[in-house]
Amino acid sequence: MAETPWLRDAAQAAQKYDEAVVVAVEACAEDTEGQTCYICHGEGDEDEGLVRGCACRGASGNAHVSCLARLAEDAGNRELRGAGGPGFVRWHTCGLCEQRYHGLVACALGWACWKTYVSSPPDRRFGLGVLGSGLSEAKLYEDALSVQEATLSTMRRLGASEHDILVAQDNLAFTCRKSARHERALQMQRDAYAGWLRLYGEEDEHTVMSAGNYATTLTYLQRFGEAKALLRRTIPVAQRVLGANHQFTHQMSAIYAEALYKDDVATLDDLREAVMTLEDAERIARRVLSGAHSVTTGIERRLRESRAALGARETAPPPPPPPPAPLYDEDELE
Ligand SMILES: [Zn+2]
Ligand SMILES: [Zn+2]
Repeated sequence: MAETPWLRDAAQAAQKYDEAVVVAVEACAEDTEGQTCYICHGEGDEDEGLVRGCACRGASGNAHVSCLARLAEDAGNRELRGAGGPGFVRWHTCGLCEQRYHGLVACALGWACWKTYVSSPPDRRFGLGVLGSGLSEAKLYEDALSVQEATLSTMRRLGASEHDILVAQDNLAFTCRKSARHERALQMQRDAYAGWLRLYGEEDEHTVMSAGNYATTLTYLQRFGEAKALLRRTIPVAQRVLGANHQFTHQMSAIYAEALYKDDVATLDDLREAVMTLEDAERIARRVLSGAHSVTTGIERRLRESRAALGARETAPPPPPPPPAPLYDEDELE
């Protein structure tokens, strides 16, 4: 595999995993205090500490990373045997709330997954894929980029399915955007979106999510007109395909609102629509995700910005009246 040498070593993978667990447990300490692992019910490693990095709330979803990893490995093995079930999805998506793990928990599970498959060449690319997304979630973009580049080239070399290659392209485009490689992100995201459209058509969850990521990149690059046109077309599809309450549907609405309020040509109505959209999105994100989730804080930032833009416009002094039309003597116009 043509990947970075720091990846290949199984002992190093184990060490990176241990470090990632410590950091994730520390970050979750306040949230998980006094809770019990829902998988081992307190029978597991007392010293490990608990994490929670999905949309579970209250007493739900607290777990040891090692227990989440065991659950994911079992599900993955069943998929490899053709026994059905959720399969590899469990490495990145919670089995209780069905939302993706985020932040440092996603990163710890990424290392867990890589540690599991590093010595098993046929399944290694699964581990690499989950690790790449996890590193990106933990904002370790340079590491994420090298892992995701390696994933993509490995897949192309091994003749992976178009579906899997498009997933890898989407992930790499996301990391490019996050690490301010905007032009590269735009090119890769445009290609991925076109690929999904070709493969599954517009009414498909992968196509919709790729469209949302493409629109986000367009907005970052201040190509607001293109972003708005794409989102006007695809948000109704997201509502049908993902559901009106899916976190990604709200993210798409938030990006649409951002493209509205940041655009120089925004009308007063556009600004009001942006604020209203973000107020709705914020309320739902707080209820469904939590105040600390990165999606919620992103929506809150946009809400503050959109209110400021609307406030500035509403309190702006009215434009000066047009100068009086000159009075002409009819004869002079001839
Ligand atoms: Zn446990
Ligand atoms: Zn959950």
